Amino acid sequence: MDMFENLLDKAKDAFDVALKATGEAVDTGKQKFNVVSLETKISKDYKALGELCYKKHKGEDIDFEKINELVADIDAKINEINEIKQAIKNAKAKRICAACGAAIEEDTIFCSYCGAKLEFTTEE
Ligand SMILES: [Zn+2]
Repeated sequence: MDMFENLLDKAKDAFDVALKATGEAVDTGKQKFNVVSLETKISKDYKALGELCYKKHKGEDIDFEKINELVADIDAKINEINEIKQAIKNAKAKRICAACGAAIEEDTIFCSYCGAKLEFTTEE
C-alpha cells in the first residue's frame, strides 16, 4: 500500500465516522467517495499494465497471466463504478413533495405523507 492509498483509507475511516453520526443523508456522498477510490485503483492498474507493455516492447519476458488479472480487475471495478453511479441516479430520481418536502417514489401521483399532488421535479 503506498502513501496515497494510505491517505485515502484514512480519509475513508474519517468519512465512515461522519456517516455514522449523520445517518443516511450523506449516503450519496459516500457512494461518490467510493467511485473516486475505485477510479484511483483503476489508474494504478492501468499504470501496471503500461509497465508490462513497456517491458514487452523492450523484449523482456512478462507474465501474461498478470495482464489477464489486471484486465479482469479493471473490468470488475468499472462494473462496480457503474452500479454505484446507477444507485446514485436512482436515489436522485426520487421526487420531492413541494408541499411537505418528503422524498416520494417516482411512480406515485400524490404524496404518501401529506396527500398533495406531486410536481414533476427531482432533487438536485
Ligand atoms: Zn407531501
